[in-house]
Amino acid sequence: MSVTYKAPLRDMEFVYYELLGGQDINQLPGYEDAEPDTIKAILEEAAKFAETVFLPLNQSGDEQACQLNDCVVTVPDGFKDAYDQFCEGGWTALTEDPIYGGMGLPYSVSVMMSEMLSATNQSLAMYAGLTHGAAKAIHACGSDEQRKTYLPKFADGSWSGTMCLTEAQCGTDLGLIQTKAIPNEKGSHNLTGTKIFISAGEHELTDNIIHLVLARLPDAPPGIKGISLFLVPKYLFDADCNIGDRNPVTCGAIEHKMGIKGSATCVINMDDAEGYMIGTEHKGMQAMFVMMNSARLGTGIQGLAAGEQAYQGAVEYARDRVQMRSLTGVKYPDKKADPIIVHPDVRRMLLTIRAYTEGCRAMTYWIAQELDQFAKNPDADRREEADDFASLLTPVIKAFCSDTGFDSTNLGVQVYGGHGYISEHGMEQFVRDARIAQLYEGTNGIQALDLVGRKMAMHNGRLVKRFFTKIGEFIAQENQNESLAEFIKPLVNSFSHLQQATGWIAKHAAKNPDHAGGASVDFLRIFGLVTVGYMWVRMVKIAQENQQGSDAHFYKAKIKTGRFYMQKLLPQTSSLLASIEAGSDSLMEFDEAYF
Ligand SMILES: Cc1cc2nc3c(=O)[nH]c(=O)nc-3n(C[C@H](O)[C@H](O)[C@H](O)COP(=O)(O)OP(=O)(O)OC[C@H]3O[C@@H](n4cnc5c(N)ncnc54)[C@H](O)[C@@H]3O)c2cc1C
Repeated sequence: MSVTYKAPLRDMEFVYYELLGGQDINQLPGYEDAEPDTIKAILEEAAKFAETVFLPLNQSGDEQACQLNDCVVTVPDGFKDAYDQFCEGGWTALTEDPIYGGMGLPYSVSVMMSEMLSATNQSLAMYAGLTHGAAKAIHACGSDEQRKTYLPKFADGSWSGTMCLTEAQCGTDLGLIQTKAIPNEKGSHNLTGTKIFISAGEHELTDNIIHLVLARLPDAPPGIKGISLFLVPKYLFDADCNIGDRNPVTCGAIEHKMGIKGSATCVINMDDAEGYMIGTEHKGMQAMFVMMNSARLGTGIQGLAAGEQAYQGAVEYARDRVQMRSLTGVKYPDKKADPIIVHPDVRRMLLTIRAYTEGCRAMTYWIAQELDQFAKNPDADRREEADDFASLLTPVIKAFCSDTGFDSTNLGVQVYGGHGYISEHGMEQFVRDARIAQLYEGTNGIQALDLVGRKMAMHNGRLVKRFFTKIGEFIAQENQNESLAEFIKPLVNSFSHLQQATGWIAKHAAKNPDHAGGASVDFLRIFGLVTVGYMWVRMVKIAQENQQGSDAHFYKAKIKTGRFYMQKLLPQTSSLLASIEAGSDSLMEFDEAYF
């Protein structure tokens, strides 16, 4: 049996409206069209599209993979047709600015769509995802002329975008970039260099590909402060965007890789390719960060989507597969054995996936709505608050959701036993596809350093204080609520672990930065566990208030999943705190020669 997928619309709506109050998003100036009925209709259509167009190409795309012949990359069969349908349906325009041909809907709506697309076909979803990031960077940092030229083409999907940072000698450390940009007599620049691992770097899905390339001007200061950002089109074009000559930016090779085989991962060679600077000289990283932050959230969504897909596949199998009898006596006497869903360990796996996935959904959608507040709320204080939450939690969402997403796909395979390892069921593909999200857009180790090194200290600790205050106030408000006591108590406990860990790092990192580096991944994990725990208690509270109604089944399951999370997953914060407080000596005193 091959895995299927049904978009979790009920849970999405629960999180978006009941938990986060998304029905008020149309009160924000500019989002008037985002009425609940409109969003509902969009989600239903997106679900249908993902299930019927993207999903059927997932396994075949993995088997066929991208091919390179004479600098031309061929994507798997069906991808072009699916991409065209995607554009015709207007999906590429969903959140783009109406001034440039977009529909101007809230980002948070596109997050739900992205989850469905990524769950059904991560490789195919990436082509449009990167274009959206490129559009954001040009919108934020490009000139008027650049916005007018590129954004309508991105909105209708006829052109696509890439993100060209990585070179052979540098991935994490972009200060080592060598690609050169030399000013030319036309007022533009000629770029020469080689980028590697460029997703969607070459393909025939769109009429043109616009590469966003980080490069160095001849007078650039060394390191990260000497990087500028350029738009380098695959094809040059005239003032009316009619395609002209091929720019010397070509695909030298595609990578053969572990997963996302339908996504073209390219070596891109530039040999005096014409490029146009975005923003100002040497300030390229600021513009690129707009794209990277969008891509980081997108990567967290990939993790969340992987978890959902793994869960659905695993539950279906666990109900169907019969092995052994229940420890507490026969449950299905009419069968030769009980379905494996009766066994505690199989339930542990299923509930672990479910609790992380639903919790990560809540955390991610929350921050997506905060980004909408940041974009449109007329109140400057509210915008600042929203920006603080989004900045603080972007590395957490990227790393925590991709880590738990990967773990979930692995558990999904485990639920299938040996059959999970066999390709035809599709479960092993999820593991291979999900693995990349922990690596690209800055490895999860680098996300942890961003959290500990930058975000914690930002604005004299304002971001973290604000976040702690929010959780503290919620706890104070619900502390006397007896029906929530069993949920609040573990949250209080783990929140205190997070605060202790924060204090420990603040105290010790100044004396020895290796303590911060050694603690960072554990710290991000505590951060993610507590944030998701906080979301769980809030979800349980709403579910308790609604469990007598017509949808009792949904709310009861929510409460029970929340209970599992608080009892079985959240307590990890205690061992993580112990590990942090043990310091980094055992790491750093290990002589290099002993490795
Ligand atoms: C399939 C795929 C698609 C990709 N798509 C794109 C793309 O579209 N555009 C693009 O520009 N790039 C892309 N990348 C590149 C990706 O972003 C990088 O691989 C990633 O950022 C890590 O860089 P690296 O591979 O050079 O690893 P390195 O930077 O060499 O890191 C190796 C290890 O060292 C650790 N490390 C490095 N520095 C530190 C430090 N200071 N402290 C602690 N640990 C450290 C890292 O966490 C990692 O574990 C893609 C990669 C892949 C595999």
